[in-house]
Amino acid sequence: MMPALFLGHGSPMNAIQENSITRAFKKLGAELPKPRAILAISAHWMTNGTWVTSMPHPKTIHDFYGFPQALFEIQYPARGSTQLAKDLQQLITDPQVRADDHSWGLDHGTWSVLKHLYPYADIPVVQLSLDMTQPPQFHFELGQKLQDLRNQGILILGSGNIVHNLHKIKWDDDTKPYDWAVEFDDWVKEKSISRDFESLITNATDTKAGQLSIPTPDHYYPLLYVLGASLSKDTLNFDIEGFQNASISMRSLRFG
Ligand code: ZN
Repeated sequence: MMPALFLGHGSPMNAIQENSITRAFKKLGAELPKPRAILAISAHWMTNGTWVTSMPHPKTIHDFYGFPQALFEIQYPARGSTQLAKDLQQLITDPQVRADDHSWGLDHGTWSVLKHLYPYADIPVVQLSLDMTQPPQFHFELGQKLQDLRNQGILILGSGNIVHNLHKIKWDDDTKPYDWAVEFDDWVKEKSISRDFESLITNATDTKAGQLSIPTPDHYYPLLYVLGASLSKDTLNFDIEGFQNASISMRSLRFG
């Protein structure tokens, strides 16, 4: 059975930098079983309705601005899987999952981490979008509907950040995380271990720390899919922990 994995992707620069996080991505990629395909839920594909990429050759999308040219030149030429997209549409009938055969592809939430985990881009990748018109519970329940794919050799990959506040970013190298960022990151860790998903779905922004950590829900929602796709018998590992730029948690969760 394949794991359900949440990764913090942080700055797009992680795609081309060598640092403690990217070394940890590489190590994790070497340890994971090789999946038949990857279903990625990225913070960066926000839609109205739920969509799945169904093109055989998804393009590498450079969905950011003001970064070095080297980042815009990166290609992650993994194949898509029209078949997996179809299977997904059959598996999930509520909500209706619509097939996207031309507009999206692989965004940097997906390729900036997969580039380290599977550098040969030799595993098909399909993306599932985030319907931003829906509440947190919807995203968790949709994640539950993905559980069975794990038995079919498919890696469920959520890519976002548990703490993600771009307005509070600090650029100094040896910067320490904010107290509220550490507080919220610890809270998510605790609630994940105790499988108190109800709190993670419903109460995440009840506290000041939660409000500062999730100013917008896009980077948090991918976590809810991974929680949904997890089983009570799964072991839970935090392969990667720590912060970048004081206000971005790089914590990962690996169920199974
Ligand atoms: Zn992002």
